Parts: sequence; structure tokens; C-alpha cells
Amino acid sequence: MSNYVINPPAVVSIPIEGSDQVFPVRRVYCIGRNYAAHAIEMGHDPDREPPFFFQKNPDNLYVGDTFPYPAQTKDVHHEIEMIVALKSGGTNISVDKALDHVWGYGVGLDMTRRDLQGIAKEMRRPWEIGKAFELSAPIGPLKPVSAVGHPAAGMVQLKVNGTPKQTGDLNQMIWKVPEMISYLSDYFELAAGDVIMTGTPAGVGPVVVGDVMDVHVEGVGDLTVTVV
Ligand code: MN
Repeated sequence: MSNYVINPPAVVSIPIEGSDQVFPVRRVYCIGRNYAAHAIEMGHDPDREPPFFFQKNPDNLYVGDTFPYPAQTKDVHHEIEMIVALKSGGTNISVDKALDHVWGYGVGLDMTRRDLQGIAKEMRRPWEIGKAFELSAPIGPLKPVSAVGHPAAGMVQLKVNGTPKQTGDLNQMIWKVPEMISYLSDYFELAAGDVIMTGTPAGVGPVVVGDVMDVHVEGVGDLTVTVV
């Protein structure tokens, strides 16, 4: 017998590659404009300004091979991202200790209702309406550090219907993974179960129903998602 007045929401969890264990998700932090060429394509200066973050909801993450075209948009965009999963956290984590908190890595998509995000930017409103909608983050299974190390270089590529649309390299990140963890921990208390989406290279663009998105992050993983 519990004393919950309603059924408690399920813990969101991400499968682990080659295992029947799962990774429970606590929070999802996403960094904005973390590749210079993408900052430029979005109309911003690529200089190394302090990073900024927004959040998706844990239950926006899911492992699946389809992405339902979302409501209330006519311009949903793909953003390929490497994902970092934390096994521990804290505050004021130093850059040189940051990787000790990483459980593993994965690949995923920060799907974005770009038209709604654009209106929010213009009106100086928060981004949730563009970023934090249902099923906005299809991802692949996670892999532990013991399998993939700490990937800092390697091709990041998203194809739509076989045509490369986004191509970059993990080594082009403006803010590296240890720096992101350290910076976030100055503002938030990080904890086991936190997930960081590490930004996207240039070439973001719209998808339509029927499009097939192939996600590839060298040394980390692959994912194929069809827009339905
Ligand atoms: Mn993104």
C-alpha cells in the first residue's frame, strides 16, 4: 500500500547496449550552439561566449525507430547530438574531475519545433514549446565508458533519406564534455541519472513524414528513425 494520491509516474529509463539493464533518467540538460558553424547558421557569433543550456523533460527521451510528426508545427528540424549519461554528480565539479562522473555515452536527436522556437526567441520567451514536447528526443541505447571510452573526436553525421545533411566532428565542440559538466555543476546540483545532450553541428533542417534519419557518431553509435 502506498500513500500516493495518484499512480506515480514511471521512471524513464534508457536501454544499455547488449544488456538487459537500463539507465534511469533524472534530468536532461541540452547545450545550445556548441558547434561554431551551427552558431553561425542560426545567426549568432561563434566566439566562445559562456555556454547556455535548456532542458528537455526526462520522458521526452525514448528508444524507438519512429518519430511522430509533432503537433502545432510546420517546421520540425533534426539536430543530431552525442549524449552523455552521468553516474554521479555534485556541485562545483572541476574540469579535470568531470569525466569521473560519466557512466556512458549514446546518440540521439534533439528534435525541434523550429517555428515555435523562433517565435519564442523573438518574444524573449522560454524555449520549452519548441524543444520539450512529447517524443522530442529519440535516442539509441547507451554504451558504458568501459566500451567507448570518452569520445572527444570522431565524425558526427546525420543523413536524411541517404543524403548527408549534418556533418561535423566531436572535436569541433566549442565546449567540451568535461567543461559542460563543470559549468553546469556551478549552476545546478548534478546527480546520477542526469543526461546531457551536447549540441549539434551545422546543417539542421526540416523533415517531413516518411523521411528516414540516419544518425551516426563515430565510436559511439548509430540510430535510424523514420518520421511518421
Ligand atoms: Mn540541440
